[in-house]
Amino acid sequence: MQRTVFDKDHEAFRETVRAFLEAEVVPVYDQWYEQGIAPRDFYYKLGELGVFGIEVPEEFGGAGIESFKFQAILIEECARAAVSLGGSGVHVGLCLPYILNLATQEQKQRWLPGFVSGETMFAIAMTEPGTGSDLAGMRTTAKLSADGTHYVLNGSKTFITGGVLADRVIVCARTAAPAEGDRRHGISLFAVDTKSAGYTVGRKLDKLGLKVSDTAELNFTDVQVPVEDLLGEEHKGFSYLGQNLPQERASIAVGAYAQAKAAIRFAKEYTRQRNVFGQPVASFQNTKFELAA
Ligand SMILES: Cc1cc2nc3c(=O)[nH]c(=O)nc-3n(C[C@H](O)[C@H](O)[C@H](O)COP(=O)(O)OP(=O)(O)OC[C@H]3O[C@@H](n4cnc5c(N)ncnc54)[C@H](O)[C@@H]3O)c2cc1C
Repeated sequence: MQRTVFDKDHEAFRETVRAFLEAEVVPVYDQWYEQGIAPRDFYYKLGELGVFGIEVPEEFGGAGIESFKFQAILIEECARAAVSLGGSGVHVGLCLPYILNLATQEQKQRWLPGFVSGETMFAIAMTEPGTGSDLAGMRTTAKLSADGTHYVLNGSKTFITGGVLADRVIVCARTAAPAEGDRRHGISLFAVDTKSAGYTVGRKLDKLGLKVSDTAELNFTDVQVPVEDLLGEEHKGFSYLGQNLPQERASIAVGAYAQAKAAIRFAKEYTRQRNVFGQPVASFQNTKFELAA
């Protein structure tokens, strides 16, 4: 099937990404897989390649292109090469929309240049040990200090992609009790500096798949978060989560398709060469699998 969604610029980007993965990732990927994490320095290379800045406005160092298609290409090419790029998918795919849609001009100036270069890697922390699908039940709290200069963050999160290496984490926390008839009220978002006192990274979780993606537990004990790091309006975090999660779902859909396609290609290549006993079999060459263009 011929696709028409990508133009010449997209295909040029695809070639660049393909060559980059071949040169910079495939040769070292077994090592990353073994260690369960992509090295921190690698994110600077992705920054140099320009993949973090595509959708970031030019005034903050990006290319200012409002399109999901480049991300889709990156996802497709990773699947094709059978690699993943650590927590970087969350950095761009999940966290960037929050910054673009909710951050003030001052916050964008502070965070986006580092976001683009890979110096400031972002992650997002919603899930807690007792709270997954039902996010309104989260227990992490952020209490405004008496002098109004900072919030005091307490609680813990789990399953946080990129959580080991992140420099800033968008943490969802309760700033007020649920309102009567509205459990969603009272959640706020903060872009927390992971170097803050009282912020600790717990276990790096071992998983069945996504081995190179560092998935971590995070703990907060009296972490002081400056009011300047509140993202969007206080208490409105739940609706922000609802608005921003669809892009993640789109990434998952693109990834699922690309991985299925890659799996068929790998199966085809494998059967071209060997039978179930691992012996070379020439007659397997005409397999029934048909690949999309
Ligand atoms: C690899 C990986 C990476 C992740 N990365 C992040 C991240 O970066 N940041 C983050 O915040 N979280 C992350 N998560 C957590 C993820 O968002 C949660 O796992 C998810 O929200 C589900 O929560 P849970 O695991 O507690 O399952 P639960 O909410 O306990 O659900 C368990 C099962 O019950 C079903 N279920 C739940 N409620 C209902 C209901 N009302 N009716 C019917 N069925 C229901 C669910 O569909 C599911 O099948 C990650 C998880 C994984 C596995």
